[in-house]
Amino acid sequence: MSTVVAPTKDTARGPRPSEAAGKPKKKKDVGPTTEERKRTSNLSYWALGWLSFAHLVVFAFAAFTFTWPGLIVMLVLHWVTGSLGICLGYHRMLTHTGMKTYGWVRYTFATIGMLAGEGSPLDWVADHRKHHACSDQEGDPHTPNDGGLWSHMSWLAYHTHNGDRKAYLQRWVPDLYKERGMRWMDILFLPAHIAVGAILFAVGYWTGGTPLACSLLVWGMFVRLVLVLHATWLVNSASHMFGYRNYETTDDSRNNPLVAIVAYGEGWHNNHHAYPRMAKHGHRWWEFDITWQAIRLMRATGLMWDVVDYRTAAEKKEREAAAASAKS
Ligand SMILES: [Zn+2]
Ligand SMILES: [Zn+2]
Repeated sequence: MSTVVAPTKDTARGPRPSEAAGKPKKKKDVGPTTEERKRTSNLSYWALGWLSFAHLVVFAFAAFTFTWPGLIVMLVLHWVTGSLGICLGYHRMLTHTGMKTYGWVRYTFATIGMLAGEGSPLDWVADHRKHHACSDQEGDPHTPNDGGLWSHMSWLAYHTHNGDRKAYLQRWVPDLYKERGMRWMDILFLPAHIAVGAILFAVGYWTGGTPLACSLLVWGMFVRLVLVLHATWLVNSASHMFGYRNYETTDDSRNNPLVAIVAYGEGWHNNHHAYPRMAKHGHRWWEFDITWQAIRLMRATGLMWDVVDYRTAAEKKEREAAAASAKS
């Protein structure tokens, strides 16, 4: 752990590193900026409708449809779609290519990620790669420098592609955009959610009649969707504002233990910004990362390999040499 810089005590909102560092000297092409995106003609009615609908269902029906089986189904699907789908599938696998795997495993995780309701893989990965390319600078799709609420959720009200989605995807996700299967997931997004809702309703109806059917639908689908959304959004908002830093990165990313709990290890966000491809987000022994445990399990079963569990090539070599000398 020699490369870990001692955590700074600047948990308060003092001057951020990006502010202290000043503006980048060379103006780079960062794609649509926040100011450019904030136009009525660029509003994403699809995202606004989808996200508002999910929240409205929760506010209107969650209290009246609570059951213990509903809560358990919600928690299990929260972990499946949040940790396995978003954190492992969308983020560490598709965005950062932190491991290798079989095509069917890759598409399985991508499909589970899609069921978290955060958009198709193409849009999600494009936005997140752009976030890394311009973290807390001009062009970042969701920096708290443009407002805490903006970084949490309002940024989704406007298209990040600013009107030319194809060009946006070809720039940020050329690898995924080439895949017919990934493009198909755009079309399958809504039908897949309707299918999951129907399955939950049917299973509930079968096992407990209409009350359980409504409970599984509202809790297993909508409460779960809303909670996973906010967990992911907290990574973009809270983990760029509150917490400690292990590494002096050029952005304002923080390690936030509370976000690490609700977002399955993604709250160790300063570690992640320092070494984005590393599939293991907890870098100190106590920085528990449950998504990493799932990746370890996948590696142990042989379903994933070449997992990036090192910060640098030198660290990888050092570890391999130590393992070789321990064997001999
Ligand atoms: Zn970030
Ligand atoms: Zn990332």
